Amino acid sequence: MRGGLKVVVTGGAGFIGSNLTSWLVQHPAIGRITVVDDCSTGNTALLGADLAEIDFHRGSILDARLLDAAMVGADAVVHLAALPSVPRSVADPLASHHTNATGTLQVLEAARRADGPLVVGASSSSVYGAQPNMPKAETDRAMPLSPYAVTKLATEAYLGAYHACYGLDVLPLRFFNVYGPRQQAGHAYAAVVPKWIDAALSGRAVPVHGDGTQTRDLTCVDTVCRVIAAAITDRVTSPWPVNLALGTRTSLLDLAALLGDALGSPLRLKHIAPRPGDVPHSQADPTRLLGLFASAAAVPLDEGLARTVAWHREQRAATVRAGGGR
Ligand code: NAD
Repeated sequence: MRGGLKVVVTGGAGFIGSNLTSWLVQHPAIGRITVVDDCSTGNTALLGADLAEIDFHRGSILDARLLDAAMVGADAVVHLAALPSVPRSVADPLASHHTNATGTLQVLEAARRADGPLVVGASSSSVYGAQPNMPKAETDRAMPLSPYAVTKLATEAYLGAYHACYGLDVLPLRFFNVYGPRQQAGHAYAAVVPKWIDAALSGRAVPVHGDGTQTRDLTCVDTVCRVIAAAITDRVTSPWPVNLALGTRTSLLDLAALLGDALGSPLRLKHIAPRPGDVPHSQADPTRLLGLFASAAAVPLDEGLARTVAWHREQRAATVRAGGGR
């Protein structure tokens, strides 16, 4: 790390946060990185050798004093910490609200007390919910279908309000299904790509909720990291939410076929009941994103999936080498 910018990443021990932290460690304009994470769903092991390059604060974004300490001298805060799951929020809406909505408010309050860092916040395509327009533009009305989606709508709305009321520089980004290396399988709320890779590598059938014709704008984590790094170095701001996806559309059945190619053998599908709160189709209109980040580009899905499969294979091999078996 050579440059002068200090960046705080909340949720930096999670999937997107650990990828972003590694990206920022390599970035010539970034001088210091501080991660705040309570490791409730994340894990410092995801940071690997980069852990030695950063200041790691283990604790909650609900702890104002911890946030104040982390934000001293910060030029930017990338706020990713959250309980990031629709079904988890359906099972326990209050927990999702505390971490995602109240937690965002705590991060914004700390940013206000600090010397006005740019706050980049993670919202979600789930805010569109029942909105029938395709592709989804930020001007379409948000119609959330789950408590999780409501907490993400609160997140982006709080960022906009802190810009309007306190002049804070903000950038609320709506992530669409992000996938890539370091996304964890093996827990009840795992996302579709790691869950399916894990099932296939274990010789199990992969569970498909509904008929599999649902579509998603699958976004490689590298695309997300590249955009956020540019937002930090060029101080890109927007009081209004910005879709962070390039407008691709892949059905779950097509995803299964592509994963079969990446794995070298077709997946065995097991169709199960649709999930409450899931949205049927999701595809971004990237016009606003490309207006702010002309160089934002999609990683080809087959390439991103191949690297993701390779990471899962390496994890399994490492577990076996360590004597853990699988
Ligand atoms: P993740 O679970 O891997 O990462 C979240 C991190 O936040 C974890 O490391 C967890 O330990 C930490 N965390 C949770 N509660 C915390 C607390 N109270 N204090 C401090 N840290 C806490 O999830 P992810 O997929 O990397 O998601 C990152 C962000 O992106 C989330 O805000 C999520 O809502 C959003 N998002 C993700 C996707 C996606 O496809 N992965 C899509 C839309 C939005």
